[in-house]
Amino acid sequence: MTIQHNIPLQPLNTFGIHAEAANLITINIEDQLAEVGAMPQPKHIIGGGSNILLTTNPGGLVLLNRLKGIEQIQEDDSYIYLRVASGEVWHHLVMHTVQQGLGGIENLALIPGTVGASPMQNIGAYGVEVKDTIQSVTFWHWADAKMHTYTAADCQFGYRESIFKHQLKDQVYITSVVYKLSKHPVLNTSYGAIEQELQTMHVTTPTVATVAQAVINIRSSKLPDPAVTGNAGSFFKNPTIPIAQYETLKAQHPTIPSYPVTPDTVKVPAGWLIEQCGWKGYRRGNCGVHPKQALVLVNYGAALGTDIWQLSTDILRSVQEKFGIELEREVNVW
Ligand code: FAD
Ligand code: NAP
Repeated sequence: MTIQHNIPLQPLNTFGIHAEAANLITINIEDQLAEVGAMPQPKHIIGGGSNILLTTNPGGLVLLNRLKGIEQIQEDDSYIYLRVASGEVWHHLVMHTVQQGLGGIENLALIPGTVGASPMQNIGAYGVEVKDTIQSVTFWHWADAKMHTYTAADCQFGYRESIFKHQLKDQVYITSVVYKLSKHPVLNTSYGAIEQELQTMHVTTPTVATVAQAVINIRSSKLPDPAVTGNAGSFFKNPTIPIAQYETLKAQHPTIPSYPVTPDTVKVPAGWLIEQCGWKGYRRGNCGVHPKQALVLVNYGAALGTDIWQLSTDILRSVQEKFGIELEREVNVW
């Protein structure tokens, strides 16, 4: 197995942060994992690098996930089940399913990154979360040197959450995911601007393909392209707060938006909170807050990971002071 030394990580993270891996191993086949697992160094897995902030040069072993393969393993009257290797590009999988008319992940088009990271934070967008199509997740556990397969229920999925971000954090290497895709898609076009975009596209009878295209069009117009401006998507999670707290805030800030989560709680868009604190479009040296979406922190060129970390800390503090809400970082900080 080849270990590469002193490898620049700037092309491997969408924030475009300059850092170096002392040791980097590209994982192309699952069989490598037993040997890598026997090495004592700490292990850091990178897929597409679109949800990490590098604040330091990662020590130990950086493992670049490039496991490939999409395989249909089962079919019944309603579903097709695809086992997908974790290093496949997520958007390629979406387009693969959409081209076959299969439903379930069309609203998740154009999310950067790999299949293996999709269960990590239960990726979601436009009213859809990947948990609803995941049948199972297979991973190599470093400690017991064995493969395990968890059902979706075992994965403890929540809003941008899973067992892989908590009990199993840094303990496993996800090797493949089985997705259950519908042969009779039920489209979800009620979220945000999808309906409007379909009208602009002159689509009267939407399909999975046109919904995916509508999502691609909206995302391309709203979100910064990491190839142009370094970013990792939403830096913070949308907070869920008790209704009572929301009612108090609404009395002080009548325009505060909210979306129901449970009968007792609501979700408040973190982007709105950050914008109200005056951060939208703010720039400090090489980093800043995106002018179109306050939830996205950006690297204008040569920002250090610690610059972005400090900016995020200042944003957290001001939201806490103004609204009494503690935001949580969504991005994984290394
Ligand atoms: P990485 O950044 O490489 O890794 C993320 C974390 O997962 C790290 O801790 C890493 O160690 C771990 N990990 C990665 N692969 C494995 C594996 N095989 N086994 C174990 N651990 C692993 N997210 C959303 O949910 N919805 C969105 O709409 C969305 N939009 C985005 C838009 C932009 C422009 C950007 C830049 C990001 C966006 N994201 C979004 C965030 C990000 O794309 C997703 O979280 C994506 O799933 C990350 O995949 P990745 O392969 O790049 O993960
Ligand atoms: P948006 O549509 O402007 O909405 C702003 C926020 O309000 C979103 O965070 C969203 O929560 C919430 N929201 C809007 N309509 C909603 C509805 N009908 N029901 C429940 N919640 C609603 O957001 P955007 O920035 O343009 O992003 C569009 C979608 O892409 C969102 O789903 C967002 O999560 C996703 N996205 C995620 C990332 C990431 O890195 N995680 C980056 C870019 C975009 P939700 O976030 O819960 O949907």
